[in-house]
Amino acid sequence: MKKLNVMVVGAHPDDCEGGCGGTALKYVKAGSRVTFVSVTDGSAGHQTLGRQELAKIRKEEAQASANISGVTSIVLKHRDGELEPNLEARKEMVRLIRKVQPDIIITHRLNDYHPDHRSTSQIIEDSSYLVMVPAICPDTPALNHQPAIFFVYDPFRRPYPFSADVVVRIDDVMEEKLKMTGCHKSQYEAFLPWMAIKQGEIRTDYDVRNYPSDAITQWDRKVAEQYQDALKQRYGHESTTQYAEAYEMSEYGMEIPRADLDEYFPR
Ligand SMILES: [Zn+2]
Repeated sequence: MKKLNVMVVGAHPDDCEGGCGGTALKYVKAGSRVTFVSVTDGSAGHQTLGRQELAKIRKEEAQASANISGVTSIVLKHRDGELEPNLEARKEMVRLIRKVQPDIIITHRLNDYHPDHRSTSQIIEDSSYLVMVPAICPDTPALNHQPAIFFVYDPFRRPYPFSADVVVRIDDVMEEKLKMTGCHKSQYEAFLPWMAIKQGEIRTDYDVRNYPSDAITQWDRKVAEQYQDALKQRYGHESTTQYAEAYEMSEYGMEIPRADLDEYFPR
């Protein structure tokens, strides 16, 4: 695999780990550089803590996770739950992409339940061409290349379902991924199980101490089951995969020929 510069952009401080923590670990182990960006401060993600206190905690949690994986963690200051894909946010992202100079950007899709996820995706797609245009944000030198953009797996079906272009087996780094997600205690041990009980996804007598590993392993197992054929094609027909992360290439970034995708994602 090529040594790459990878920028993962999530709306909230735990989004990067949840969607592609395993792939990020594999990139770092293979000598690539990975930057995790949270566009919002995550300050709405708790049932009792106030915004100021929570923003500080969530930045620290993201850093603790980054210390395990070896990625660089950046948390921007937009208020959680209020992110808009406006001109100011676009210019901020154009400058940040130019500074990081990624070969690949990984982010949410445009169809997603959370407005911050949708806005993040829109901001990235709005920036994808402009990062090369010198007249836009002339205070930061324009890039000579356009990064490729990939979307992380989601289960939403309208207006069109996620279609995987590449799938990464993460069985060998699953334990480490759970350590990373486990750093986001305000989410996986408090807010997310509280919300899941509200939504009727787990029972009120569920032991929330199991929530982090249950939520992540179930999700990544579902991805592996859904893309078992693609995984067998990539890792050999005799192989089995328990946990996986999947990516769809955006039409707005640099297009990587299908035959070369293997070079851009760790095995
Ligand atoms: Zn999120």
